[in-house]
Parts: sequence; structure tokens; C-alpha cells
Amino acid sequence: MRAVTWQGRRDVAVSEVPDPRILEPTDAVVRITSTAICGSDLHLYELFGPFIDRGDILGHEAMGVVEEVGAAVALRPGQRVVVPFNIACGTCFMCRRGLQSQCETTQNRDYGTGASLFGYTKLYGQVPGGQAELLRVPFADYNTIPVDTDLPDERYLFLSDILPTAWQAVEYAGLSEPGTVVVLGLGPVGQLTSRIAAARGHRVIAIDPVPERREMAARHGVEAWEGDDDIERVLAATDGRGADAAIDAVGLEAHGSTLASAAHKLIGVMPDAVARPMMERAGIDRLAALYSAIDVVRRGGTVSISGVYAGDGDILPMKTMFDRQLTLRMGQCNVKRWIDDLLPLVRDEADPFGLDDLVTHRGGLDDAPALYETFQKKDDGCIKVVLSPA
Ligand code: NAD
Ligand code: ZN
Ligand code: ZN
Repeated sequence: MRAVTWQGRRDVAVSEVPDPRILEPTDAVVRITSTAICGSDLHLYELFGPFIDRGDILGHEAMGVVEEVGAAVALRPGQRVVVPFNIACGTCFMCRRGLQSQCETTQNRDYGTGASLFGYTKLYGQVPGGQAELLRVPFADYNTIPVDTDLPDERYLFLSDILPTAWQAVEYAGLSEPGTVVVLGLGPVGQLTSRIAAARGHRVIAIDPVPERREMAARHGVEAWEGDDDIERVLAATDGRGADAAIDAVGLEAHGSTLASAAHKLIGVMPDAVARPMMERAGIDRLAALYSAIDVVRRGGTVSISGVYAGDGDILPMKTMFDRQLTLRMGQCNVKRWIDDLLPLVRDEADPFGLDDLVTHRGGLDDAPALYETFQKKDDGCIKVVLSPA
């Protein structure tokens, strides 16, 4: 089959690779009809080389049609399904508590990391990803969401990651009454986060330097600002207090941290054996967005982090956070935890999340190399990319 593979920094290719097979009785193989490129893939594209091998198959946002199932799988061939990006068993201590991203059956103890993810480096199991014609899905009855309408793929596809991620970010913001939420970053995750918060009755101020991204947000009831003097503006808009919650939908590649930017460049040219411990222990994260979140939130407010961070040596303003009595919540999304809340909304004819206004670029698998570049550079108004391998 053909699949999008990692070849090196800023280098992906479409390669001929062996078809996945059923390896366990609980596996299924899904023929992929739609698969998206995520901001998380950009971290692999730019920075995570030390943890990926040339030829690894990328992708963790996928849906398709069940092609083949193992002996213990109830799901039937022909069923249309979405595949959540977490690989979870559904029965362990963590899964039973709705913490699928921490699944104890698929945790990666060698690296001290949580549940395995599709297409996401050795840190998360080095499992072949979904930007491919076929995908092997472990624990297939649990790690699939059946599609039960004729609505197009793009209504359902984002249940694989960014829609539950956005939902979890708003849940973790912990707002018990209508308030003001600042969302940092208007990539696909920030777009959906802003829309969900607005639909729940909050005033949403979103900050991103990219004009097309602000224009899209403004079409969905969001006040979108460019970022200069954002802190003063938020204070002025909230009686000098700050927002009730701030959501960081940017993560470790934020613009505006020169020291960490230099470290990113260095990691790109260092041998893996040297870069790996440096990435794990040193302060490689660019924290500009997180610092902004901490600054714009009011005393007693919550900072909810959905952007990915990866260094263990990061410096956080502990005095400020302690004195201002902030709550911090974060983590990889627990996709299945939120599906019952989200499915009725995805199916709703009124399209309450405006999913019909998110994808800006579409192509076949062969277009992946060009579309990775366009998405990373934010060229051509690119906000979300969907590939159709079929
Ligand atoms: P993206 O790269 O398209 O979006 C990031 C946006 O942040 C861009 O629009 C960029 O212009 C903006 N930005 C950069 N620096 C900024 C700053 N200092 N202030 C404000 N905005 C800034 O990516 P995406 O697909 O929207 O993903 C966003 C983040 O969420 C990524 O870190 C991704 O890895 C993470 N993510 C996490 C989960 C999870 O489970 N927690 C799931 C999906 C994505
Ligand atoms: Zn994703
Ligand atoms: Zn589990």
C-alpha cells in the first residue's frame, strides 16, 4: 500500500510499504477514506527527528471502512468508522476512569510516557499511522467510533482528535458560569476550542498572529486579536481582572521565544543520541504562549493547556502562579471520554461547530509532501488539511 512516511526534518514522502495485517485477534484493518494533518504532525516534521525512524508512517487523524477483523472482534467489515488517536484497551484502571491517554495496557514504560498513539514516534509506541491506504487498529472494538449517518467524512473525521481535544480544553477550563475565555492560537485546535467556548455562552477572545486564522474565527462569534499588547487589552476588557480562563492551543513551537528557538535549530542538526536526552531533560519548549496564558488569566482562574509540550527542564513563573492561585490542567486528549457528548452535535444538521468551515486544503496521499509544507508555513490561507487516500 501507499503511505506518508517521515524521511527527515521537513521531509515526508509517499512510499510503497507492506500492507498491515491482523496480528492479534482484537485487531481490525481499516481502509482509510479521509485522514488529516495535525499541528502535532508539525512537531514531528520539525523537531522530533531524534525519536522517529526514516520510513515511519505518520498520521493520527483517520477514518474509513473496516476491511478485515480478527477473530475476537465484533465490528463487521464494511462498517464506516472513525479511529481515535489514542490506542487504549478500554478495560484497565485508567480507561475505566476516562483517562484513555494514560491507558496502562499501552503505556510506554521505556520512555516513561502514556498510552500509545498512532503515528507518533518511539515516545508513543512507534505505531504505524493513518496517513495511509490501510491502518491496523489494535483493540478495534474499543478504538473505533461507528459512523451511523450518510453525512460526509469531514463531519466525523475530527472526532479522531481535534474536536474532543478542543472539548476537553474547554472542560478543563473549569468555567461554572458564563465568563471570559482567552484562547491562544487559532490553528484547527484553537478554532474549535473558541467555537465550543462561544457556543457555551462565554465571551471568547482568541489571539493568533495569522490574519486568515483570525478571519475564520471571527466568522464564528469569536473576537480575534493579533497579539500585540494582548495582556493590557484583556485586562481592559475584564475590569482589570483578567480572563476567567486561558487556553493554550499553541504548544512548544510558539512564536516569540528566542532562546528556545535557537535550541530547536540546534536539535535539528545534532545526532539523535545527543539530541534525545537534551530534548527530554533540557528546557526546549518555547513557552511564549503559556506565559501569555498565565499573564492574561485572572486571580483564581484556570489555565488549560492543549498545546503539546515536551521538555522537562522548562522554567515556569512559580511565584506568580502560586500567588495568583491559578489552576492548571493539561494533557493529551482522552478521545473516547468525550464521544458521547460530541456525537449528537456532529450529527446535528445545524452543524453547531461549523465543521463545514474548517478544512481549507484537500488532496490525495501524493499531495502530502506539498501540503505538509503549505500547512507548516501557513501559506495560501492554509488552516486544516485533509487527504483522501481512496
Ligand atoms: P497549528 O500549528 O496549526 O496552530 C498553532 C497556532 O498557534 C498557529 O496558528 C500559530 O500562528 C499560533 N501561535 C504561535 N505562537 C503563538 C503565540 N505566541 N501566541 C498566540 N498564537 C500563537 O496547530 P493545531 O493543529 O491547532 O494544534 C495546536 C496545538 O495543539 C499543537 O501544539 C498540537 O500539537 C496540540 N494538540 C494537542 C492535542 C492534545 O491531545 N492535547 C491534540 C491535538 C493537537
Ligand atoms: Zn492531531
Ligand atoms: Zn486501558
